[in-house]
Amino acid sequence: MMLHDIIIVGAGPAGSRIAQRLSQLGYGVVVVEKNLSFGDDICCTGILSQECLSAFGLDNGLVLRQASSAKFLAPSGEYFRLCRQSPVAAIVDRARLNVHLAEMAEASGARYLFGAKASDILPQADAVEVRINGQSDETVLRAKAAVISTGFGSTLPARLGLGEIKQFVLGAQVQVAINGIDEVEVYFDQKLTPGGFAWLVPTTDGRGLVGLLTRGQADSSLENLLTSLSAQGKIASNQAAPSYDVVPLKPLPRTCADRVLVVGEAAGQVKPTTGGGIYYGLLCADIAAGVLQQAFKADDFSVKGLAAYEDRWRARLNRELVIGYWARTLLANLSNRRIDRLFRLAGKKGLAELIADGNSFSFDWHGRLLLKMVGSLLPF
Ligand SMILES: Cc1cc2nc3c(=O)[nH]c(=O)nc-3n(C[C@H](O)[C@H](O)[C@H](O)COP(=O)(O)OP(=O)(O)OC[C@H]3O[C@@H](n4cnc5c(N)ncnc54)[C@H](O)[C@@H]3O)c2cc1C
Repeated sequence: MMLHDIIIVGAGPAGSRIAQRLSQLGYGVVVVEKNLSFGDDICCTGILSQECLSAFGLDNGLVLRQASSAKFLAPSGEYFRLCRQSPVAAIVDRARLNVHLAEMAEASGARYLFGAKASDILPQADAVEVRINGQSDETVLRAKAAVISTGFGSTLPARLGLGEIKQFVLGAQVQVAINGIDEVEVYFDQKLTPGGFAWLVPTTDGRGLVGLLTRGQADSSLENLLTSLSAQGKIASNQAAPSYDVVPLKPLPRTCADRVLVVGEAAGQVKPTTGGGIYYGLLCADIAAGVLQQAFKADDFSVKGLAAYEDRWRARLNRELVIGYWARTLLANLSNRRIDRLFRLAGKKGLAELIADGNSFSFDWHGRLLLKMVGSLLPF
């Protein structure tokens, strides 16, 4: 049986980024994807920072719209706006992002197999076996190492003894026709989205994305949100079937086993504040590719040999994940009355200006700003 260098399970942003990096270095990479094409089943708004777009050389043609301001609304309807002179974020065509990243990997030599669901990963002394359920048959692929980049919800990490992510929120999103909304709106309302928040994001050609994260029922929350936005005249109609997904709020206990790494949302490499996971997934994909390159050179794919991955990504993200989770938990436990009060206080204390201040604000790194905000709001 052929021995590949690397098998990557999952052709999302994290998987394709590792595929690109390793195939550029000359390694033989096979990416297995359970869906029949890129872009099936995607439930994601596609908001990325300018920092992310440029750091990963993402094509400007993916951008549907730039965003330099956003409006944050309290349950009472009171709001504040955050406004920057130049765009801090962009809304990208999310399905095309997957295609774009995969095209870059393919151009470097990576091979993609679609309709190929990995059902098990079995590390052995001299190789790792990945069992694949195809559309009509079951096959086994062998490689020196494998990467799990399946997004949230795969049982593969638990089967390898890496634990499970038990803290998560549910997400839902649908494309709509919008009426005259030209900036991102974010809604906080514990009745509508318990423990979460909702959004309306204009994209292009009179369309937008309505979505939410919640600890409650995502489908009924989405229905209620659509009814409310429609009653306010902000949206005209739904243009597609809603999609649903789950967002982890904490990392996987361990992300490294003999011959296997877990990367991206599957590892919980997601901002707990917003649920955004693409940027952190891409950053960790690069860390994983670097560690795998060293493992190839040393011919050491043991858990000890790969441990630098775990150390490096946690060193980069841990502070953000801890502060973000703490802030999210705090917000999740506030009543609507308290959120209204917080918004009023924020207005008085000039919080919008604090957030908009270039020294504190980063679209991707929230820890510093969160600590500053708490300092400025105490005693709340
Ligand atoms: C409503 C909502 C809105 C969001 N908006 C944003 C946003 O604006 N910006 C942002 O940064 N993040 C956002 N996110 C989060 C973002 O979508 C994820 O963090 C990101 O897609 C994770 O990338 P990934 O490559 O780790 O996994 P994924 O994108 O989930 O890709 C995993 C791939 O693996 C495949 N797969 C799964 N299991 C198997 C298997 N056993 N065998 C083979 N293939 C398999 C899947 O089909 C999929 O193609 C949002 C999430 C939700 C729910």
